[in-house]
Amino acid sequence: MFIDIHTHLPQYDDEELSGIVSRWRSNNVKFVVSTGTTIEDSRKSISLSNKYYDVLSGIGLHPSDLTSEWKKDLQEIKKLTNNKISMISEIGLDYQESSPKKVEQIEAFEFQIQIALDNNLPIVFHTRNAMEDTYEILKNFSFTYAPGAIHYFDGNYDQAKNMINLGYKISFAKTLLRYDHLKEVAKKLSLKDMVIETDSYPQHFKKNRERWTEPKDVKLVAEEISKIKKIKLDDVAQITTSNSLSFIKI
Ligand SMILES: [Zn+2]
Repeated sequence: MFIDIHTHLPQYDDEELSGIVSRWRSNNVKFVVSTGTTIEDSRKSISLSNKYYDVLSGIGLHPSDLTSEWKKDLQEIKKLTNNKISMISEIGLDYQESSPKKVEQIEAFEFQIQIALDNNLPIVFHTRNAMEDTYEILKNFSFTYAPGAIHYFDGNYDQAKNMINLGYKISFAKTLLRYDHLKEVAKKLSLKDMVIETDSYPQHFKKNRERWTEPKDVKLVAEEISKIKKIKLDDVAQITTSNSLSFIKI
């Protein structure tokens, strides 16, 4: 069985979801984490986890989704921890030109790591063009560490090692099927440090609906790891699942 540690289920239409859920169930996917990027998405993650026994809820404010109300939103995230939550996600840093100010992103990231610590929750975080700052922030928290994973990993081996040394798992997505630099990283890392995800969201830019990535496709990432590391698929499934269960609060 497999666990997909990062998806954007709240972004799908409700009518779509029951089909998506039954497809992952018939593909041996045991749990799917639904992450929040806004208050609305976070609330929806919680309600999906109440509706489907195998959906686990993540709540958080994504660094690219900080609005002018972001400070108020952070307080709301704090309140939402009164529900059954499996992780604080999706949080992190995103240093693209169009992104919110770095100081605001950093404050929101640190605030949400603290929410995780206060509630004994793991974090699954995003980093784009911001690996150094992400590392420094997490290092500063490492004396009271919240476990978790760096999602959609796209860095090099040294960056992966740094995160592992802080206690984080490396989460690979379908980009592992395409990029040689990621295959190289996966080859060198130990399987005990890896988890898998699809980062699924509605891909309207793909005209053929069949080609949208869904949680059922997390198996493709496991198959790629099996090929790269020459380890049986069953073992990849079992070990990545137990790696995920080592930090996800169920
Ligand atoms: Zn995401």
